[in-house]
Amino acid sequence: MSPTTTAAPIEPATAVNAAPPESERPWEQPWWKPAKGQSGVFAYLIAIHVLALAGLILFPLPGWRVFTWLLVLGGFGGLGTTIGYHRLLAHRTLKTKSWIEQFLIFAAMFNGSGSPASWVAYHRLHHSRTDTEDDISSPTHGGFWWAHLRWLYQSEAVDGTRWCPDLMQGGYRIWYYAQPPILLLSLFCGFLLGLGWAGFFWLGAVRLVYALHGQCLVNSLTHLGEARTNGDRSQNVWWLGPLQLTAWGENWHGNHHTAAGLAKFSRHWWQVDIGWYVICGLEALGLASGVKRPHGAGR
Ligand SMILES: [Zn+2]
Ligand SMILES: [Zn+2]
Repeated sequence: MSPTTTAAPIEPATAVNAAPPESERPWEQPWWKPAKGQSGVFAYLIAIHVLALAGLILFPLPGWRVFTWLLVLGGFGGLGTTIGYHRLLAHRTLKTKSWIEQFLIFAAMFNGSGSPASWVAYHRLHHSRTDTEDDISSPTHGGFWWAHLRWLYQSEAVDGTRWCPDLMQGGYRIWYYAQPPILLLSLFCGFLLGLGWAGFFWLGAVRLVYALHGQCLVNSLTHLGEARTNGDRSQNVWWLGPLQLTAWGENWHGNHHTAAGLAKFSRHWWQVDIGWYVICGLEALGLASGVKRPHGAGR
């Protein structure tokens, strides 16, 4: 199946800069040393892991009510990240009603994915420089753990005015300032739902850690494939799909890199792509339009 379009806002891969000098390669720093301005991210990552571990020890079986909420909140968070941040904002492969877009951004931030401008800036850079030394989240040079977690706090923030000027203006700017209160809400939502300490740990830190690693595996594991002629090492990982409650369809990452301008990540009927099914549902309801699909791909 051939792609019908390419991702318009992404710079061509031919515009690669010179690789950083050896002394500046961040993956050669000790793992415990955050980059300038990223100490807060490092502290957040430690905090949610410690809290999640405590929750698993204190409440190994949280009960069906907490577990149901975990599935609901994790599911919405995953849709926020895969549809809202990835397919809608980063690649502009569809348009939605404004309130749907705002809801998806909120869901992605509730999922711990950060502000839209920062996620999209990193992601567009990633597609433009895939698996070169300039691709800051690639495992090719820094290894699995660099791509999985370390780059989040050991690389400096990407220039949003260069990579996502469309998200540095208007109402999008508000989301940057909304980040701390949304994260606090996300962390403490178990209490707000009246589910006590088990709800606090499981719907807060345990869910956020699960969502984090679900997304991080897309950067690490799905970029450990065979290198293509252009150096791109993205691959599909089928078994990640059932585990990836928080990013539905993202496990078809190899497909996505071959046609980043398509809203559909699956290429065969058996490749489950929940994000795509939801997009088709939104389209059928008149809530999404301009969906970029492969030739001949219906709903
Ligand atoms: Zn990728
Ligand atoms: Zn992408």
